Amino acid sequence: MQPVRTVTIVGGGTAGWMTAAALSQWLTKVEIRLIESEEIGTIGVGEATIPHIRNFLPLAGIDPLAMIARTKASFKLGIQFVGWGAEGESYVHGFGKIGRDMLWLHTHQLWLAARERGLPLRSFDHYALNCAAALRNRFCFPDARNPQSPLADLDYAYHFDASLFARFLRKESEQRGVRRIEGRIVAVDVNGEWGEVERVRLADGRELDGDLWVDCSGMRALLIGEALGVGYEDWSHWLPCDRAQAVPCESVSPLTPYTRATARAAGWQWRIPLQHRIGNGIVYSSALMSDEQAAETLLGSLDGAPLGDPRPVRFAPGRRLEAWRRNVVAIGLSSGFLEPLESTSIHLIQTGIQRLLAMFPANGMAEPDIAEFNRQARFEMEDVRDFIIAHYAVTRRTGEPFWDHVRTMAVPDSLAERLALFASSGRFFKHGAAELFAEESWVQVLLGQGFAARADPVTRFVDDRALGGFLGEVEEVIADVAGRMPDHGAFVAGLPERSPRSSAPAVSF
Ligand code: FAD
Repeated sequence: MQPVRTVTIVGGGTAGWMTAAALSQWLTKVEIRLIESEEIGTIGVGEATIPHIRNFLPLAGIDPLAMIARTKASFKLGIQFVGWGAEGESYVHGFGKIGRDMLWLHTHQLWLAARERGLPLRSFDHYALNCAAALRNRFCFPDARNPQSPLADLDYAYHFDASLFARFLRKESEQRGVRRIEGRIVAVDVNGEWGEVERVRLADGRELDGDLWVDCSGMRALLIGEALGVGYEDWSHWLPCDRAQAVPCESVSPLTPYTRATARAAGWQWRIPLQHRIGNGIVYSSALMSDEQAAETLLGSLDGAPLGDPRPVRFAPGRRLEAWRRNVVAIGLSSGFLEPLESTSIHLIQTGIQRLLAMFPANGMAEPDIAEFNRQARFEMEDVRDFIIAHYAVTRRTGEPFWDHVRTMAVPDSLAERLALFASSGRFFKHGAAELFAEESWVQVLLGQGFAARADPVTRFVDDRALGGFLGEVEEVIADVAGRMPDHGAFVAGLPERSPRSSAPAVSF
């Protein structure tokens, strides 16, 4: 086992530069290099995140306010799903807490009970502050110092410009000593005895040796796939979308604090509002929608004038069978891909980086670390996969081949068991602490799409008056607080470009 003296990151997309920024913040005694090719470029999409991104920024030594200013970011309180339950319907999957509990009964159980009894009731997103604020275009930071305040329950993420984000991280990383090497890799030498990657060869004849390699080369998976031959598990039988097209358009007012995902005939369309433009794209099944139809649908439903031409991106939903083999760790699209319905890819980059730091092979590669890394990566991908499939499986859309297929297909056993439990009693339990999406997320999607579920039988001990009074009060408080929050666009415009104090790590290695 050789100690790791150099880390070579292959690829300078979001994955490559996030890895460089985080590793250079902590591993100051290791040489960090990043090879990227301007000629090949990056995928250039990936602009919506989930709240965990706020943990990544300090890990990578990034000031959030500087990030917001430099990447033209906006805030994200959740995702509005349009037409997913049925045409003409919509709901919000908001981050943060929902309502409040009555003993151990969560708000959704009381809502289900009220629905069963035919009591007056608003749609479920009226009982969560994030959703109510999103729909009123309001935003402010959570009131973390006052746990009694309803504003303590807010949670948020960011929308940012993907290329500005990579550029911002590159500058921060280079300032910390990361060496960027411009060049196209044309060959990868694998050591015949150990099967490790030894060096890469660039088109201009340069050769680079290395100890640990991080494959951030995107869907091509240059090292983990092409050089080391690690296979790919394809999930397209559950997730039939295999193509996407993206196009930005001019901004319109108001600046909305949420992503929108609108169901289309054979897929769905996203809308991501940024300060300077709106990101749009369509994700579709190429078996049921042509590239021309997809482009027409996308361009025909933009809020502002398009700022470019859409171009198709092909993808295969699934995961790399091993995210770490020998001296290569795959982070980003090289390790697998799930469609961006719940904005999870950047999060999976983040957890890949955190795992690499937690199991960093300072003394050389160790099989127990590699096995644990791969176990966690697999759990995480399968967990997110089930949540994405659930959005399709519980649709009530009928009469369209795409939606008829996903509504009636067999789902993974893990998901089928979870849906059966929820249908019979509204009960939901995490399958493990490492699951990404909490009960709040599942419940909002299932109820938002009109999934038929019975209330927890214990709710029969709560009489109609108490039930109606409780839900009425929750809704009233949330509407009042959301109504008093500042306008999102004005809040963003009023932010300073830097935090008063920047955080430097107390310890590094
Ligand atoms: P890439 O951006 O493809 O970067 C690959 C890098 O490798 C490039 O720098 C390239 O030059 C380099 N490279 C490749 N081959 C060579 C070579 N031979 N020599 C040298 N360099 C090489 N994620 C989210 O979290 N939220 C979203 O809203 C979201 N939306 C998405 C929408 C779509 C349609 C798609 C397809 C993905 C989306 N994602 C989203 C995922 C997100 O875009 C990616 O996870 C993220 O951009 C990371 O990509 P990457 O860095 O792994 O790959």
